[in-house]
Amino acid sequence: MMDGIEITFCRQCKNALADVKTIEAEMEDLAKKAGWKARKSHERIKAGISACPNACAAPQIKDFGVVAFIIPEVDREICTACGMCVEACRENAIKLEEYPVFSEKCMGCGDCMRACPSGAITGQVKFRVLAGGKLGRHPRFAEEVLITDDVNSIVDVFSRIVKISMENKMRFSHIPGCVELLKERVRG
Ligand code: SF4
Ligand code: SF4
Ligand code: SF4
Repeated sequence: MMDGIEITFCRQCKNALADVKTIEAEMEDLAKKAGWKARKSHERIKAGISACPNACAAPQIKDFGVVAFIIPEVDREICTACGMCVEACRENAIKLEEYPVFSEKCMGCGDCMRACPSGAITGQVKFRVLAGGKLGRHPRFAEEVLITDDVNSIVDVFSRIVKISMENKMRFSHIPGCVELLKERVRG
């Protein structure tokens, strides 16, 4: 038997939008207490936590995933309309009028914020919480179950995923209808 939960954190490089270490301690603690054991690697519950939308911890293919992102805002008093944020955006998500306007194509990476020479762009940090992803014979991308800025809510979803696995004696993403089941519990 091996430890049944494998948590991967990204290395939080210069692109990091949040300190995901605050989540790490609580998740590691919960994983230790859970008592979920796996006989083989594919039975392990896998979690991937990424501090920006580049998603280096591969949260899309894990039972539980977290991706930090920002909702960018511009301070019109400071902005000089230089256009450097437009050049920096790889998603073509900024239109420069009298000041930058962000479109729905924005994925919240923060490149524009880092590129602005005036410090006119700030961003409210949020976390996209994903569930149900896996590789193997029938691979599936994880689905978004929650957007939040509250660390407790993130850990709560993780704890529900572990609990559902224990109840069904099966790794979360292998349970038929796992994401719907989770959504019902998160809503309830
Ligand atoms: S997910 Fe983002 S912050 Fe984390 S290592 Fe990758 S690029 Fe850096
Ligand atoms: S880079 Fe900064 S100063 Fe330049 S247009 Fe964008 S927000 Fe304004
Ligand atoms: S946060 Fe990223 S995707 Fe969104 S507007 Fe800025 S550079 Fe573009």
